[in-house]
Amino acid sequence: MIFAVVGTRPEVIKMAPVILALRRRGLEVALVATGQHHDWLMMGAFLERFGLSIDYPQGHRLELGRRDLLGSFVEITAGLGTLIERHRPELVLAAGDTTTVVAAAFATRKGGSAFGHVESGLRAFCRQLPEEEHRICADAMADLAFAPTRIALANLERERVNGRVLLTGNPILDALRWQQPVTVPKERRAGILVTVHRQETVDDPVRLGKVLAALRALGQQESVLWPVHPRTRAKAREHGLDFPASVRAVEPLGHGEFLESLARARLVVTDSGGVQEEAAILGTPCVTVRRNTERPETIEAGVGLLAGIETAGILSAVRQILRDWEHFARPAPELYGDGRAGEHIAAACAEFLGERVDAGTLSRAAGK
Ligand code: UDP
Repeated sequence: MIFAVVGTRPEVIKMAPVILALRRRGLEVALVATGQHHDWLMMGAFLERFGLSIDYPQGHRLELGRRDLLGSFVEITAGLGTLIERHRPELVLAAGDTTTVVAAAFATRKGGSAFGHVESGLRAFCRQLPEEEHRICADAMADLAFAPTRIALANLERERVNGRVLLTGNPILDALRWQQPVTVPKERRAGILVTVHRQETVDDPVRLGKVLAALRALGQQESVLWPVHPRTRAKAREHGLDFPASVRAVEPLGHGEFLESLARARLVVTDSGGVQEEAAILGTPCVTVRRNTERPETIEAGVGLLAGIETAGILSAVRQILRDWEHFARPAPELYGDGRAGEHIAAACAEFLGERVDAGTLSRAAGK
C-alpha cells in the first residue's frame, strides 16, 4: 500500500493528480490527512473537487491540538508513526514544504517505509524560513525525489541527495488543466487578485502593516479582490490591524473559483508558492511579495517580479507591470512540464515498488 499524506490545501491540489494516476495504475493508495488544515473551506472542498476522501485517521478528530511549529511537528510525527506502524505502507508520499511534509519524512523513515517527496529540490537559499528547513530535511530523507523543474533538479544534484532524483514536472499544471479554467481575452482582463498568508509576511505586525498599506493604496486605484487565508485573518485580528476598506476581502475561494479569478485578473499580488506557479501558467503577471523565492523560474521567464515586502517596493512592482503589461502577460506553462507530472510520478513509484518486490524475492530465494 502507498500512503499519500496531505496537511494543507496546496498539498491536496498537488497530490490529487498523483493519487489519481497511481490508482489508474491499479496501485492501492490510502489518503492520510494530518489535520494541519481541517475545515471545509481549506480542506474538504478541495478533496471533494478531486473526488477524494480521507482514509486515515478513521473516525478521528482531524484538527491538531497544537498550532506552533514544534508542537504540530511532534503531534503529526507521532500520529503518522502510529499509522505507519499499524499499516506498514511500502511507500509514503508527501508534497511541498509544510510541517506535514517534514513530519511525514521523519515518521516514514523511522518507521522503516520508503519516502517519496513530490515537489522536491525547491530552494530559497534562506535558512530562516521554516519551509526551507522542511524542504532540505524532506529531500535529504527521500528515497524518491520528484523535482518539478530543471532548477529544482540542479539543486538536488548539487546537494548530492541520497535518493533517486527524477524530473517530473509539477502536478499543479495537471491539477490546473483538470479544472479547465476559463480563457479570458487580454482586453477583458481587469482588477488585481491578492493572496497573502506566509508566516514571514503575516506574523510580524510591522510587515503585515506594510503589505496592508500597499493594498489600501492599490484598492484606491483598481478593483482588488482578496480571498483571505484564515491565518492572515487571525494574525490581523491579533495585531489589531484592519483590512483596507478599499479592498474586497472575502472568504477563501474553492480552487475552480480561485483559478477563474486569477484568469480574469490583470495581475496578482501574492506570497503564495502555488499561486506564483498558477499565475505563470495562466499568463497573469505576478508580483511576489517576498524578499526571496524558491520559485525563481517565473522571475527568470519575465512573467513576474520579486517585490520585497516594503510598501513602496510592492507599489512600484505593480506600476512596472501595469506599464509594460503585454510583456509580462505571457502564459508559460512549459515551466512546469508537460501537464502529466502525476503520471510520471506514478510510473516512477510503480517501478520503485516493483524493484523492491524483486529484490525481496531474490534475497528470499538466496536465503538472505
Ligand atoms: N487557492 C484557492 N483558493 C484561495 C486561495 C488559493 O484555491 O482562495 C489555491 C491556489 O489556486 C493554489 C493554492 O491554493 O493552488 C495555494 O495555496 P497556499 O497559497 O495556501 O499555499 P502555498 O502554495 O504558498 O504553499
